[in-house]
Amino acid sequence: MNGDRMIADLVILGGGPAGAIAARMAATRGARVLLVDPDRTPERLEGLSERLLGWLRGQGLDSRLPEGSPFVPRKALWAGRESAHNGEYLVERAALDRSLRAAAKDAGAKIVTASGQVDRLGPDLEVEITLSDGRHVLAPRVIDARGRKAHVGRPVTRGPATLAIGGWFEDRLDAEPEARILPFPEGWLWIARPGGGRLWVQATLDAREGDGASPAARLREALDGASRIGALPGTPPSDWVDKVPLGAPLVRDCAPVLPTGSIDLRLIPAGDAAAGMDPLSGNGMFWAVSGALAAFAALETLAARPGPDSETLARRYLEERIRETYRRQARLGRDFLLQETRYAAHPFWARRRSFPDDRPLHDPGHDQNTPVAGSVAVERTIVVETGLLAERDVLITDREPSGVAWLAGIPAVEAYHMLRDGAGEEALAGRWGAEAARAAMAWFRARSLFPLPR
Ligand SMILES: Cc1cc2nc3c(=O)[nH]c(=O)nc-3n(C[C@H](O)[C@H](O)[C@H](O)COP(=O)(O)OP(=O)(O)OC[C@H]3O[C@@H](n4cnc5c(N)ncnc54)[C@H](O)[C@@H]3O)c2cc1C
Repeated sequence: MNGDRMIADLVILGGGPAGAIAARMAATRGARVLLVDPDRTPERLEGLSERLLGWLRGQGLDSRLPEGSPFVPRKALWAGRESAHNGEYLVERAALDRSLRAAAKDAGAKIVTASGQVDRLGPDLEVEITLSDGRHVLAPRVIDARGRKAHVGRPVTRGPATLAIGGWFEDRLDAEPEARILPFPEGWLWIARPGGGRLWVQATLDAREGDGASPAARLREALDGASRIGALPGTPPSDWVDKVPLGAPLVRDCAPVLPTGSIDLRLIPAGDAAAGMDPLSGNGMFWAVSGALAAFAALETLAARPGPDSETLARRYLEERIRETYRRQARLGRDFLLQETRYAAHPFWARRRSFPDDRPLHDPGHDQNTPVAGSVAVERTIVVETGLLAERDVLITDREPSGVAWLAGIPAVEAYHMLRDGAGEEALAGRWGAEAARAAMAWFRARSLFPLPR
């Protein structure tokens, strides 16, 4: 620190899941990290997926889940049928974010409670940031993890204008924790009961509808809509008639959003700042954290092998990854919405039928042919190998359109070529060990890629 000017190796703007995890990783590697966040996350509930918890567990971070985050199946009453997909942990986001920022601090990151804005991107690898408390920071690189705020004033493409209106309601003290997704003509509802006498109701609606009604009125209408089709949990619908939210509802933009410009490696976006996804998947936090890992791998590569080749590689990796993740999540959301046919003619459903396009989930959208089930293609792509970016041949299948580089530590393409040329499990075991060979064979068999010896 020099007067009101601070110097850091890396500044991270935004301390949501993406920023906090990126800060922790960089600090663990010994970098001087400044994590800037105003600590103003509104109190709200979100579902943290099993996939993300698995990753957090691997990092010794599962103990950072706030207390009272019950695990519940994600029930959907979609298309008139009830199904229970994968489960989720109902977490209070302000508490989770604080807890992850504390983990970054424990790893050595300095936390600054303020907001920050980039004033200047210098030609000599210097980014100047001004904080809301008047101080200035200089750093060679910044990770932009400001969430959807990062898109203000930047060129982006957006999906159909979508709003989420959420509010807390009183609940029975003895209510069993549960979460359900309910479609209704104007959109869909997520009702999450963490226990403790409160429940969270969130309506996802078309931003262009509603005739100027207030958020509270739109939330009420959504509950009435769901009540009419008998989809509200536990109690008879009449119990919901007089329910009013405890406090003003929280209104959030949740349209899918993707920046169109190219990435400046001095200011690397991660999480929702890189692309905002449809909340229907319930996997936004997972993708935010996975985006932080991608940003970190790019930074490590630039530090380990400085120069224009690494810069081109890092830029390509980040841009392709963001575009592919966005497109895939948007198509997943579209396909899920398409399954609900009862309301297809209503504006919310009709406007989302063809977004982002009409192509199948795995269609790469360029000249490459996606393999059909039982076949495979080999493509050169950028992967993370021992923490750094590298170009490598990967196997593309209908299930793995982004490619598979390794199967239990065995280079997937090499194993594929050996098996195609007539080798068997023994040959793989001879090179990479029996256990890895068994796992690789199971992978090829599960995809029926070609007749393999039993
Ligand atoms: C309605 C809705 C429901 C959702 N439900 C789920 C769900 O159930 N499960 C799930 O996994 N995902 C869900 N998501 C997605 C999830 O919220 C996001 O994907 C995730 O929070 C992105 O994390 P992030 O760290 O990139 O950004 P954020 O979590 O948005 O964090 C950004 C941080 O940056 C800070 N910030 C903003 N401006 C500045 C600035 N100028 N300087 C410094 N800091 C700044 C903010 O205060 C905030 O702390 C939902 C999203 C929406 C909109």
